[in-house]
Amino acid sequence: MERAEEQVAKIEMKDELAGSDCDICGAPMVVKMGRYGKFHACSRFPNCRNTKAIVKDTGVKCPVCHEGNVVERKSKRNRTFYGCSRYPDCDFVSWDRPIERECPKDHHFLVEKKVKGGKQVVCPNGDYKEEIQK
Ligand SMILES: [Zn+2]
Ligand SMILES: [Zn+2]
Repeated sequence: MERAEEQVAKIEMKDELAGSDCDICGAPMVVKMGRYGKFHACSRFPNCRNTKAIVKDTGVKCPVCHEGNVVERKSKRNRTFYGCSRYPDCDFVSWDRPIERECPKDHHFLVEKKVKGGKQVVCPNGDYKEEIQK
């Protein structure tokens, strides 16, 4: 336990500000490096243990609830996936980045896949595919 706190104190020396405030105590949040990448933590740690995952808003409307936005998240194995900003109210998840278009065949939302030499727009159900010109 003592050891862990020592390590935290060392890391705190070079913390950069996250640009947001802790929603529990109002102190500034700082960026920390964790085992699975960066996350935001309260600068009053260990007095306040609030932490927040960093989510990147893609600006795309959630294809499931059409209310939230699609945000980038990291899985436990540090793989990027896409989820809804309204999670856990909305359970949308996708490994590939969804785009705001429907599949012309089955009206499922389309996703953008990274492939060799560029990107592809595909339907996750596998019945539609489009090459994106560079
Ligand atoms: Zn706090
Ligand atoms: Zn949603």
